[in-house]
Formats: sequence, C-alpha cells, structure tokens
Amino acid sequence: YKQERYHQLFYQQMNNQCILIHYHEISLKGDNRSWFEKHFVENIKAQLHSLPYKKIKVLAARIFIIGIDRDCYEEYEKCLKNVMGLKNAYVMSRSDLNVDAINSEVQSQIKDLSFSTFRVSTKRQDKNFQYTSQDVNQIVGASIVAAYSKKVSLDNPDLNIIIEIVNGKAYIGYRKIIGYGGLPIGAGEKALSLISSGIDSPVASFLLAKRGVDVHYIHFHSVPSTSIQSINNVKAILMQLSKYQIQCSLYSVPLLSIQEKIMKNISSKYWVIFFRKAMYSISELLAKQLNINALITGENVGQVASQTISNIRAASDAVNIPVLRPLAGMNKEEIVNIAEDIGTYEISIKPYEDCCSFFVPKHPATSANLADVQNMEKAIRLEQYYEDLLEEITEERISIYE
Ligand code: ATP
Ligand code: MG
Repeated sequence: YKQERYHQLFYQQMNNQCILIHYHEISLKGDNRSWFEKHFVENIKAQLHSLPYKKIKVLAARIFIIGIDRDCYEEYEKCLKNVMGLKNAYVMSRSDLNVDAINSEVQSQIKDLSFSTFRVSTKRQDKNFQYTSQDVNQIVGASIVAAYSKKVSLDNPDLNIIIEIVNGKAYIGYRKIIGYGGLPIGAGEKALSLISSGIDSPVASFLLAKRGVDVHYIHFHSVPSTSIQSINNVKAILMQLSKYQIQCSLYSVPLLSIQEKIMKNISSKYWVIFFRKAMYSISELLAKQLNINALITGENVGQVASQTISNIRAASDAVNIPVLRPLAGMNKEEIVNIAEDIGTYEISIKPYEDCCSFFVPKHPATSANLADVQNMEKAIRLEQYYEDLLEEITEERISIYE
C-alpha cells in the first residue's frame, strides 16, 4: 500500500510539473492560429521524441507540456530551443489559484537557490482572479522579503520569478528557455536551397526554415574530379540543420559533364558565371518537378568577385523562378555568428573542394556584360543536356531521428 501511495504522489507531482511555451507570432488570428498551433505542436512532439512527458495541451495561446521530469531540464531546453516559432518557455509548477498556495510554491522553489536580488513578474490571462498582476507581484515579493530578507531589483535581478495565471491555475517558475522565434517548420511553402558546404548557404537555409519554409536541398558536385568530401560535408551540415528542420531531402547533382562543356567552349573568366547559370537552371527544372516555387542561395552582395550585382543578374537571367537571398545585406561577421550559433560553422570550415571554386581561374569576371553572356549562351546551348542530367539526380532523406 505504501509503495502504491508513493507512486500516486509521485505522479501527482509529475502532473504538476510542466513547461509553458509562448510562441512568437502573436498577431496570428483565427484559422491561421490553429494552423500554426497544429504544426507547432507536431514539431514539439518530434523534438521531444526521446524525453518523458504526459501530454501536450494548447490553452489560451500557450502550449503546455504536462507531466515532465524536472531532472531532465537541460535536455528539454536543448530540444525546445530548436523548435522554430518558439519565443520563450518556462519550466513551471502548477498550483491552485490562491495567494497561500502561490506563496508556498514560490518559497519551495527558491529556498535552496543562491541570489541576493530578485523580482516577481506576473502575467494574468485569467481575469477572474481577484488580484491584478501588480497585486500578485507585491504580495509575493513582500513575502519573500519577509522570509529571506532579499532585495527587490526590477531592472537587473539575479532571479526573476515568473508567475502566469491561466484558466484557474497559477504556474510558477524561474528557468527561461529562449528560442529563435519565427514560424513552425512546415507551416509555410516549400523552397529549394542551393547548398554547398561553405559557411553561407547553411545559414541562408536556416533563416528561411526559421520562417516556416519547408526547405529541400540541392547540391552540385564534380566527383570524381573533386573528392567525395564535399558531399559528405553537405550531409553533415544537413544532419545539423535537421535538428531544426526535423527532416529534409538532399538532391545531389553530378555537374562535371556540364562543367567540362563550359570549360571547353567559354573563356575562363566566365566559367564561374556559367557554372552558376547551369546550377540555377537545373535547380529551376528540379523545383518545377517537385512543385516548388522558389530557390534559396547564400549569395551576398559584394562578398567575392562572382557576387557583384551584375554577376548575380547574369547568373539568374536564365531562370524565371524567384531566388531568395536572405544574406544579401549581411556582413560576413553576422553570418559567421549565426553559423556558430546553429552549429554549422565547425563543419563548414573543414577543408573541401567546391565544384565551382575547384576550377576557378585567378581572375574571374567581376562585372559580366549581360549581352556577351547571352551570346555565349546561345552558342553553347547547355539546356539540351539538362533533361538528361535530371535523370542522374539522386535523392536522400536526412532526419533528426537518425
Ligand atoms: P557558400 O559559403 O554558401 O558556399 P560562398 O560565399 O562560398 O557561399 P559561392 O561559392 O560563390 O559563395 O556560392 C554562392 C551560392 O551559390 C552559395 O551560397 C550556394 O547557395 C550556391 N552554391 C555554390 N556552390 C554550390 C554547390 N556546389 N551546390 C549547390 N549550390 C551551390
Ligand atoms: Mg562556396
């Protein structure tokens, strides 16, 4: 009997342990909101697949993960940080909605913490509770001052005690998880990202995944002229990105035969532009096949000679599909900071031979003349080879579960 009672108490306690999540796009209304919440909850489930919890509930524009094991705090934190659309989250205990219950829960949580200054931040969603947020802050604050003789600091406290009053219950905690914000993966449309194993394209892809875009990947390689390492690096990068994206597809394209035709027929200073043109066109064809309406690249204005505005113009001249370039206006340092933060930087700086740079001459054209490029293009008529090349594309699924 004793054992049973113990288990009962244990589960009761576990039921009161939860994580309260705030999502990011607060302006969402009506149908949009339930669409958003549906994807958001699915993504949370996927991210938490190896961690304990009893259920996930949507309540008053908040998501509750109920019945968690507080001892796994760090693992929950790691997984939830990767959920796109998450603004912040708190590990909370649920208590009855009265001042005594709130005070005793607060005190039991903080009694072993070391801090000298604190504040209480209350949010009251449930307006039926007789006290305003400010009242609760003052009542709880005063009882902490009385019991522990600590000081209040509103601007820079060591400890910020969070109280949320939602649907007849009080939720209390102090551990904050900060997310990337944005929109849930899969809530948006598809896009096809041109991915190399460089620093930029993984960051560009992440930024659009963060906006809920379902990002698929296309990688061009020159095997066997370049080593297989570039493909392996790309896979390692996608393993890392799938931590955010949950799963994605990689389409690998052998570009060497096309590159050889370009190198044979075109002056070397235009090679890079033509390689790039071919990549765009083939990507557009694949996108059409997959019913995808946009490409993504890591291009950045003025970063290298091939990325002047007129060269970007010349390279994308051949395609009708929109090309999203989320890094266009960013500084290298800003891009590197994101790459480090999302964990792709370490992989990107590993040595590799890129299909474009491997063959690049010392002096690529920095400002392509559009008419010249168009004339050369007419002469070499690369399009005739693209359809055949599509047959040689291989697809691979990469997912968080591996
Ligand atoms: P990255 O760091 O992403 O490689 P970069 O600054 O090195 O970019 P480039 O190598 O000139 O710039 O490439 C510009 C963009 O073209 C890349 O961001 C990527 O989107 C695309 N790209 C380049 N190489 C490849 C490739 N081998 N396969 C697919 N896309 C590529
Ligand atoms: Mg590169």
